Amino acid sequence: MAARYVYDFAEGHRDLADLLGGKGANLAEMTRLGLPVPPGFVITTEACRWYLRTGDVPDELWPQVRERLAALERRAGRRLGDPEDPLLVSVRSGARFSMPGMMETVLNIGLTDASVAGLARRFGDERLAWDSYRRLVHMFGTTVLGLPDEPFVEALRRAAPGGELDLDAAGLRSLVSAYRELLTEHAGRDFPQDPWEQLDLAVRAVFASWNTPRAVLYRGRERIPDDLGTAVSVVAMVFGNAGQDSGTGVAFTRDPATGRQGAYGDYLPNAQGEDVVAGVRTPVPLRELERLDPASYHQLLDVMSTLERHYRDLCDIEFTIERGRLWILQTRVGKRTAAAAFVVAAQLADEGLIDEDEALRRVSGARLAQLLFPRFDPGADRPRLATGINASPGAAVGEVVFDSATAVAAAERGRRVVLVRAETNPDDLPGLVAAEGVLTSRGGKTSHAAVVARGMGKPCVCGADELEVDPVRRRVVAPGGVVVEEGAVVSVDGTTGAVYLGEVPVVPSAVAEYFERGVLPPPGSGEEDGADELVRAVDRLVRHADRVRRVEVRANADTPEDAERARRMGARGIGLCRTEHMFLGERRKHVERLVLADTDAERERALADLLPLQRGDFVRILRAMDGLPVTIRLLDPPLHEFLPDLAELTARVAVAEALGEERAEDVRLLRAVRRLHEHNPMLGLRGVRLGLVLPGLYGMQVRAIAEAAVECASAGGDPRPQIMVPLVADATELALVREEVAAVLAEAGGALVRRLDVPVGTMIEVPRAALTADRIAAHADFFSFGTNDLTQMVWGFSRDDVESAFFPRYLELGVLADSPFETLDRVGVGELVRRAVRAGRSRRPDLEVGVCGEHGGDPASVHFFADVGLDYVSCSPFRVPVARLEVGRAAL
Ligand code: ADP
Ligand code: MG
Ligand code: MG
Repeated sequence: MAARYVYDFAEGHRDLADLLGGKGANLAEMTRLGLPVPPGFVITTEACRWYLRTGDVPDELWPQVRERLAALERRAGRRLGDPEDPLLVSVRSGARFSMPGMMETVLNIGLTDASVAGLARRFGDERLAWDSYRRLVHMFGTTVLGLPDEPFVEALRRAAPGGELDLDAAGLRSLVSAYRELLTEHAGRDFPQDPWEQLDLAVRAVFASWNTPRAVLYRGRERIPDDLGTAVSVVAMVFGNAGQDSGTGVAFTRDPATGRQGAYGDYLPNAQGEDVVAGVRTPVPLRELERLDPASYHQLLDVMSTLERHYRDLCDIEFTIERGRLWILQTRVGKRTAAAAFVVAAQLADEGLIDEDEALRRVSGARLAQLLFPRFDPGADRPRLATGINASPGAAVGEVVFDSATAVAAAERGRRVVLVRAETNPDDLPGLVAAEGVLTSRGGKTSHAAVVARGMGKPCVCGADELEVDPVRRRVVAPGGVVVEEGAVVSVDGTTGAVYLGEVPVVPSAVAEYFERGVLPPPGSGEEDGADELVRAVDRLVRHADRVRRVEVRANADTPEDAERARRMGARGIGLCRTEHMFLGERRKHVERLVLADTDAERERALADLLPLQRGDFVRILRAMDGLPVTIRLLDPPLHEFLPDLAELTARVAVAEALGEERAEDVRLLRAVRRLHEHNPMLGLRGVRLGLVLPGLYGMQVRAIAEAAVECASAGGDPRPQIMVPLVADATELALVREEVAAVLAEAGGALVRRLDVPVGTMIEVPRAALTADRIAAHADFFSFGTNDLTQMVWGFSRDDVESAFFPRYLELGVLADSPFETLDRVGVGELVRRAVRAGRSRRPDLEVGVCGEHGGDPASVHFFADVGLDYVSCSPFRVPVARLEVGRAAL
C-alpha cells in the first residue's frame, strides 16, 4: 500500500499529533466537534522528515494533495486561484510540540494578477483584495525566497508613513508592484502566477523552516527532539481584513498570567493573521468585542466553554471574524505562567473536570520553584517610569540594552540586562535568553515577546506605550521627558506591569512567605494580585502530594534555625546535619590544640572542651525536630580546613623569624599544617579516615549526641538522633567506628531508664562503597547516598572546577544532557545507586535508604529516587516544598 501523507480535517483527531502536528490534530478535533473551522487538510510530519532527509518531497505526495484539494474546492464551491472567484489557502507549519512563531506560515496562496480581481468582486472590495495580495507577495518573498524583512517594511513605510491603513486599493496595488521589484532584484525571479507552483514552493518552505536557526535554538531550550519535523496544514482562507465588521484575535479561556476565570485575549479589527502577534498595531482587549460584535462575542464564549470542557484545561484560541461570521483557526492547551498552572489546576479540580491526582500531574516542582522567587518590595519608593501590560510575572533588574547582540555580549561579561524594544521578533531570541527580563512599548499579552518570555519563565512587560523606544539614539523617552540612556538600570515588574527607574529591592514572594510561616494567609488578603487564590491552590496541591507520596522529604539543616525553618516548610526530619560548622569561629582554637597535642592527655583536654559546645548544638537541633529523625554526620572535611592557611602562616613565621620574634607556638603550628597539607584533599585524610586516625574525635561527637539525647529525653522530649559515618569505602571501616560508637552510647545512655536507641549508618559516596553495599549493610542501620561526592568520583569530575571550565562545551557537544551535579546521571551514577540499594536490602531487608545530595531537591532526580525505592530524599529547607510536590507526583 502506498504511504499516506495527507489527511482531511474530518479524518484526523487530537491523538494524531505525532503525525499531524499539534495544530493539525486540534483543527481536526475541532472539526469533529462541529466547531466553525474552515475546511482543510494536513500533510504529515512523515512527509516533512522525507523532505529533510532527501531535499525533495515523496512522489506520492502531490497526487494525494491534488485529490484533497479537489475535495476542498468542491466543498468551497470555488477553485484554487480561479480568476473568476478564487479559493485561497493558508499553508501553515505546526509540529508535535508547540513552537510559537518559530516556523513559517504563508497566507493567501492562490492570488495572482488574474485572481485578485475575482477576490475583489466576491467581497465587493478592491482594497481587501490588494491588501491580501501584498501580504502574500511579502510573505512569499521572506519565507519562500528567504529575503530579509527590512526592504519590505521600508517600501511600506515609503508608501504609507502612517501605516498600511492609510493606503487605498490603488496604493496597495502599487505596493504590490514595488514588492515584486524587490523579488526580482534580490532573488532574481518574479512572483509566480501559477497557484500550484505557489503551493508547492510554500509547502517546501514550511518544511524547511523546521531548521531555521531560531527554531533550532528554541528546540534546544525546550528539549524538543530535532528529528520530529513539522506537519503542514492547508486551510481555506477567511478574511479578517474585510472591513470594520471583520477582525482577528486570540483568546484564552482563563487568564494565562494569573489563572483567573473569564475571557482574556486581544482583538484587532480589520486585520489579518499575524497582525495581532506581530504587534504592528496595539489590539483592544477581547471584552471590547462584546460591544463591537455581540453575536460573534457570545458565540466565541460558547466555543471557549466547549473547548475547555472537551480538553479539560485552559485553551488558547486563534479566531477570525469575516463580515460578522466567526471562524476558529487554531486551539491548543494554552501555555501559562507557573501561578496560572497552580490556580487553574485547583479550579478545574473544584469544578469536577479533573480529579486531584490529575491536578497534581499538571503542576511541577520546577514551576513551584519559580513561585518561590522573590518579588519587588511593595513598600519601596522608586520613580515609576511607565506601566505596561503584565505579560510574564517576576522581578527583573538590569541595565537597559536595545538589541539582541548587545544583550548577549553584556550577559557574557556577567552584566544583568533588560532587553528594551518597540517589539520583538523571533530573531531576538538569543537576547531574550540572555536578558533578565524584557520590556516592549508595543504589542499585547500574545505578542512575540510575551509568549516567549512566559515560556522561559522570564519577567516581561509589553505594550508600555507611554515609552518611546529609540534604538537608533539608544535611549528611551518616558512621560515627562525623562530620558533613559542605554546602560541605565531599570526594574521591570512582570507581575504588575510597572517599570521603575533604578534598582528596586526585592522581598519574598507570597508563596515563599506562606511556606516560611507555615500557615495560610487570612482569606481575602492580597485579593488584588490574586496572591490569596494562588497560595490556596499551592497549599491544596502540596497537601494532596503529601497524602499520596511514598517517599518522605527531609531537610539538610545544620543549625537550629534551619531545622525550625525546614520543619515549617514541611520536612519530616533532617536527612543531613553536618557538624563541620561546629568547629569554626571561636572553636578553631580548640581544633588547633587538638592537632598540636603531643600527649593523649593534651588531646583529651581539647576534646573535652569541644564536648559541651557540641552537646549544646545538638540539644537545640533535636528539640527543633522533636519526634522526627535527625541524621547527624560525624566530621567529614580534612582537618587543614580548620587550621590557618599554609602560605599565610609560612610568611608570618618567616617575618617573625627575621625579626627574631618567632613564637614556639607558631612554629609548631606551621609544622602541623605542613604535615597535614595534601595535594588532593578531597581524596585525602577526611571522613571516616580521620575518625580512625585521630583517636577520640568521633567518640567525642558521639558522646555529645548521646548526652544531648539524654538531656532532651529527660526533659520529656522525643529525640531521634541517627549517627552517620561519612566517606566509608570498606565494611571494616564502618565496623571499627561502630564498635567505638556502641561503647560510648552504652556508657552515656546509661543514665536513661529507656535504652538509648540510636541507629548507626553510613553515607554511600565512594564508588567502592556502592560496589560493596552488601558487606557494608551488615554493619549499617541505614544508607544515605551522598550523590555530590558520588557523582564527582564516578565521573572523575572535580565539581569545583569543571562546571565553568568545559561543561558548556560538553553540553553543546551532547556529551552531557544536563550537568550531572544538578540532575542525577541515571545511566552511570544512578545505576550504581540502584545496585547498591538492591544489594544493601538483600543483606538487610529493613535497611533505611535515603539521599542527601543536592539532587534530593531536583525534580527530575526525585522521580528516579522514588523509582529505585528510596525511603526519603533530603534537600535544603528552601527546596522542601518543591521536593514534597515531586515525591507526590512520582507516586501517581
Ligand atoms: P503560528 O504558528 O505562527 O501562529 P499560524 O499557522 O497559526 O502560525 O498562522 C499565522 C496567522 O495566520 C494566525 O494568526 C492564523 O490565525 C492566521 N491564519 C492561518 N490560516 C488562516 C486562514 N486560513 N484564514 C485566515 N487566517 C489564517
Ligand atoms: Mg497560530
Ligand atoms: Mg560527601
